[in-house]
Amino acid sequence: MASTYDVIVVGGGIVGASAAYHLVRAGANTLLIDRRDAGRATDAGAGILAPEMSQSESDAWFQFGVEAVDYYPPLVEALQAENAGETSYARCGMLQVAVGEDEIPHFEEAQRVILARREQRGRPSPADLHPVSSHEARELFPALGDVQAAIYFRHAARVDGRQMSRALLRAAEARGLHVLDGSVDGFVQQGSRVTGVRLGDQQIEAGAAIIAGGAWSAAFGDQLGVRIAVEPQRGQIAHLGLAGEATGEWPIVGAFHGHYLVPWPDGRVAAGATRELGSGFEATTTAAGVREVLDEALRVAPGLAKAKLLEVRVGMRPYTRDRLPVLGEVPGIEGVLLATGHGPTGLQLGPLSGKVVAAMALGQAPEVDITAFSVARFG
Ligand SMILES: Cc1cc2nc3c(=O)[nH]c(=O)nc-3n(C[C@H](O)[C@H](O)[C@H](O)COP(=O)(O)OP(=O)(O)OC[C@H]3O[C@@H](n4cnc5c(N)ncnc54)[C@H](O)[C@@H]3O)c2cc1C
Repeated sequence: MASTYDVIVVGGGIVGASAAYHLVRAGANTLLIDRRDAGRATDAGAGILAPEMSQSESDAWFQFGVEAVDYYPPLVEALQAENAGETSYARCGMLQVAVGEDEIPHFEEAQRVILARREQRGRPSPADLHPVSSHEARELFPALGDVQAAIYFRHAARVDGRQMSRALLRAAEARGLHVLDGSVDGFVQQGSRVTGVRLGDQQIEAGAAIIAGGAWSAAFGDQLGVRIAVEPQRGQIAHLGLAGEATGEWPIVGAFHGHYLVPWPDGRVAAGATRELGSGFEATTTAAGVREVLDEALRVAPGLAKAKLLEVRVGMRPYTRDRLPVLGEVPGIEGVLLATGHGPTGLQLGPLSGKVVAAMALGQAPEVDITAFSVARFG
């Protein structure tokens, strides 16, 4: 392994994997260092890709979100051309349903936000979004119970973070990416310039470093003299098995108690998820968490009652209080970039974030406006 790299990427979740892939694709001699923490968010993420259905009122987030989901098809095509293996990316559609009377005001508010964005930005197009009856909703997702109201967004997609990040890393390694299992303790600095990373007694030099450490990224703030206001938000998500059902053809279902169902082709339906701020980094399931996600799944889709409980995954979302990612330079420090804080939408945004910071690490200007995502906003 060479001792000097063009770029070192810290973290091997979807964001770090994407950054590393784009770096080696651009010809950069790159090292990715990953500690593989239990609770890596990418391994637990539900994989919903549908910014158009989000309730976020941030224009900057929405603009980045639609560019990020538009980037998936060409990226997946490139990975397929490089024989990177299954990415799992698929268009599957999404139903947004109100089950109880209490959800009707939220359903109406969600429609208001979605339609206001359509007015301003043309997304989602009228052809992609339409109301459906309770009967039609159940035809699409047979395990559903009665619903009071539903809309269907046909452009939504899903991706399994494990498979997507593995494909990115496989393609990157085939192009010469170096990968090291280890924990980066801090940076080597010459004045205000980062010139490498420290792992215990070892120092590895690099022209630039990218912090893609997910919920663990804040640990680097003290050394860099900046507040990286990213904290772990634990999510527990139950995977249910319905052997023999054609779940691969079912859409994602979102309801209004903050939960959702994501079906996969192998008779599996992921029912998520808890949103536990203050959880710390303890990547464990809890009785209350499992009860919460199962109760909500069965409230919306009583047909899931017969499913097997296959597993419960746990991940730490890299959460920011303003729900925006943290991307780009660290004020006053050269040679280091941040790519973290993607919260509940990092599978959606992560591949584009990785591409953007990879280009920045190679001295190019960001291809999209990331001003709103600057770490400087935390003061
Ligand atoms: C239950 C759940 C459901 C979700 N659903 C969705 C969804 O539907 N759609 C969506 O878009 N997003 C979703 N997300 C969010 C998404 O999974 C995350 O935002 C995204 O995976 C974050 O990726 P990341 O690469 O930043 O961090 P991670 O995947 O957490 O990876 C960070 C990596 O950095 C490593 N690391 C940290 N510090 C160091 C260090 N000092 N040295 C070396 N390595 C280090 C860690 O060990 C880890 O491997 C969900 C998340 C959860 C938990």
